[in-house]
Amino acid sequence: MTDDWKTRTEMVHGGTARSGWGEVSEAIFLTQGFVYDTAEAAQARFIEAGPDEFIYARYGNPTVSMFEKRIALLEGAEDAFATASGMAAVSGALTSLLKAGDHVVAARALFGSCLYILSDILTRYGVEVSFVDGTDLDQWRDAIRPDTTAVFFETIANPTLEVVDIEAVARLAHDHGALVVVDNVFATPVFSRAISQGADVVIYSATKHIDGQGRALGGVILGTRDFIRGTLEPYMKHTGGSMSPFTAWIMLKGLETIDLRVRAQAATALALSNALQEHPKLSRVVYPGHASHPQHDLVLRQMGEGGTVVALELAGQAEAFRFLNALGIVLISNNLGDTKSIITHPATTTHQRLPEDQRAQLGITPGLVRLSLGIEDTGDLIADILQALDAV
Ligand SMILES: *Cc1c(COP(=O)(O)O)cnc(C)c1O
Repeated sequence: MTDDWKTRTEMVHGGTARSGWGEVSEAIFLTQGFVYDTAEAAQARFIEAGPDEFIYARYGNPTVSMFEKRIALLEGAEDAFATASGMAAVSGALTSLLKAGDHVVAARALFGSCLYILSDILTRYGVEVSFVDGTDLDQWRDAIRPDTTAVFFETIANPTLEVVDIEAVARLAHDHGALVVVDNVFATPVFSRAISQGADVVIYSATKHIDGQGRALGGVILGTRDFIRGTLEPYMKHTGGSMSPFTAWIMLKGLETIDLRVRAQAATALALSNALQEHPKLSRVVYPGHASHPQHDLVLRQMGEGGTVVALELAGQAEAFRFLNALGIVLISNNLGDTKSIITHPATTTHQRLPEDQRAQLGITPGLVRLSLGIEDTGDLIADILQALDAV
């Protein structure tokens, strides 16, 4: 029956498992463990747990399982594993599939903690990592080798919003039998078609659009049942990065409204980028969903829409700070995908620790700001941003 449901129906009803009470809203099973009727039943479950049989919350829990089923429906993945944070998802996915001697090719433009895992942690355990410009297919072609085990990239880079061609990179990787692992946060699960485009493993920080209301940290890894249950689950359940049932409930309820929220946020992002074209205080307005984005054709092919984040460039840091400080609705913070609009100055916050030459190489200039659009009224937001630009 779920086969015929459209996204919004699936996100309200998909994956629901009701208890004997027949509750309407999904129950939070705040329990670490489960009771067995007999010693024999306990033994049998430890030999092999059935699909709705649980042992210990680090291994699985009914509320967590409802969230995993619902997000798997949204992504079109066979299975999913929920994690304590987005970074538990990135580190779990990579560490579970890599071993000493393996080779990974990764895009250079990465979230700081992802970069740390690849360049500082995995290399300590004998994994070799090559970095490339993710938008340059020749660099991927040159770097991927017969012994490459996996490629890793953010499908839309933070904060410069460059887009990596999933289909093209997957073709190159699959020619050498390498797995394609993507951090898909900026694409959002609403616009993602990553699995049909060749991604083998898709990762989200659920902290972003899935909660979408700034309440809880979480993450999720999606892929084939073989990968999720065969490779990933043994690693996650023994190392402990699983999602709490309470967080899973927050994320499950977040999925009920994600399609409405993200589409409204993307519509505002597009309206704002239209309103800001040729603005005298801005040297760049970057939005993947706007025709002026250098990879707009790829964006339309890959996601259909441009996501919920816009990058703006002012003359320098002083101008950027004056702009941020003059905003009335938009909050200065560092989350994204929230119902509240949030602005970040990457050079002095999220990317502060990068050496200046690396920041320059990634296009993170002193005047660049990252704006995550919320669900406030579009006209109010545009007015707030225009008055703050006037103050610069
Ligand atoms: C936020 C984020 C992460 C990390 O997620 P947490 O939930 O904060 O651990 C990883 N990748 C990207 C692209 C992100 O935006």
